[in-house]
Amino acid sequence: MNNIPFNKTKIVATIGPASGSKEVLKNLINAGTDVFRLNFSHGSYDDHAKVIANIRELNDELDTNVCMLLDLQGPKIRVNMMEDNVILKSGNEFIITIDEMKGNEKMASTSFKTITNDVKVGDTVLIDDGKLELVITEVREREVVTKVIYGGPLKSRKGINLPDSSVTAPCLTEKDLKDLQFGIQNDVQWIALSFVRAASDIVELRNIITASGKDIRIVAKIEKPEAVRNIDDIIDVTDAIMVARGDLGVEIMLEEVPMVQKSIVMKCKAKAKPVIIATQMMESMIENPRPTRAETGDVANAVLDGADALMLSGETAVGAYPVEVIKSMVNTIASVERKSERIYFNHYLPDENSSLYLNDTVILSACRMAKAAHAKAITGMTQKGYTAFRMSSHRPKGHIFIFSDNRPFLSTMNLIWGVRGVYYNSETTTDDTIDDIERILKERGYVKPGDTFISTASMPIHERGRTNMIKINVVK
Ligand code: PEP
Repeated sequence: MNNIPFNKTKIVATIGPASGSKEVLKNLINAGTDVFRLNFSHGSYDDHAKVIANIRELNDELDTNVCMLLDLQGPKIRVNMMEDNVILKSGNEFIITIDEMKGNEKMASTSFKTITNDVKVGDTVLIDDGKLELVITEVREREVVTKVIYGGPLKSRKGINLPDSSVTAPCLTEKDLKDLQFGIQNDVQWIALSFVRAASDIVELRNIITASGKDIRIVAKIEKPEAVRNIDDIIDVTDAIMVARGDLGVEIMLEEVPMVQKSIVMKCKAKAKPVIIATQMMESMIENPRPTRAETGDVANAVLDGADALMLSGETAVGAYPVEVIKSMVNTIASVERKSERIYFNHYLPDENSSLYLNDTVILSACRMAKAAHAKAITGMTQKGYTAFRMSSHRPKGHIFIFSDNRPFLSTMNLIWGVRGVYYNSETTTDDTIDDIERILKERGYVKPGDTFISTASMPIHERGRTNMIKINVVK
């Protein structure tokens, strides 16, 4: 049992040099982190393996289910290593070459070896999330010549975006395939795929995971205009979505990002697929101990939109205040969840043509009953998580406790809005199970005598079927 306070909207913290040690990871968990993101654009297998071991030990020591999200780099185009203190000057010529060299003020090498096939004169080149802007003036056999429109500092391994070009690289690169095997061997709970363009990209990843026999869930990162166009098909085949605003904000018009974010959140909730809002949520806290008003507003608005989780990148990976940023985010989320009614009770009608229509109807009815009874909690039992995803999508106001004997899956559920997983492996009668659930919730301080909670289960319990029963309980 732990006393870590929790909100319904989850927090994903990216791990990096500022946060990989056991001590900082522990502080991040105690401050309210729900998911750790291992960003495979950076770090060695050794670094990631140490972090994974630390997280596993901490989950045991703190009795938590913090989960691990391995983020595959995908066909991200980058500049290679640069000399120190390079600054590109507006108006100057700058060459991007596919030959290996250490970059300087005139020229840099790129990881994208087919760049000369995919670009043309007049295309824009954006570097470092669009901070630097270049325009292509000539395409040669092994290099692209550009003119710097907006200059600035250029550091090693910064990202390049080509918003005018149709990039032909495969969605899963050779590096991704190796990183994926590392994730499979290390039993991470979620894998994120970058630069998804179509549903078939997710299906390709799913086939590899399924062949491994592991139950690892997929996050589709939406950061390309093609993905925005194909969003309905992508939501259908993925397990979760990330609105990756960093690359998205340079791949489409920046001013379109807020409405794309709202539309994707709405679609995801209606289909019971968790959605993460990522990038620059608390950017200034990389250097400062407090966020700006605008950042606090961005966090609050994402909670109001109904996102399942909010993600921190540089703030926790390389920032000076990784723990403070979690505390600040926790406080803002808590304030919005306390004061806003509009994030709750999104009672989606089940699809009559679905084979799970009856089970979906039971889950919706349980959420309606929880609202009518002002229930403090709503509980379910799961093997593979269906009830958890579905119950969460209706956004009940009471906490959602999902009981399962599938221990690794308790962590998988930590990404889902409002859901806390609880280990439970007894299989006697439904009456005994509901008594046990009441006792556990009471012991952990989630309910007290006189409180109402709604329990759902599958009867008979030993058949481990889909949710088909609702009971309303008053805590003794
Ligand atoms: C993003 O682009 O917003 C993002 C989360 O992706 P990455 O950090 O991998 O560039």
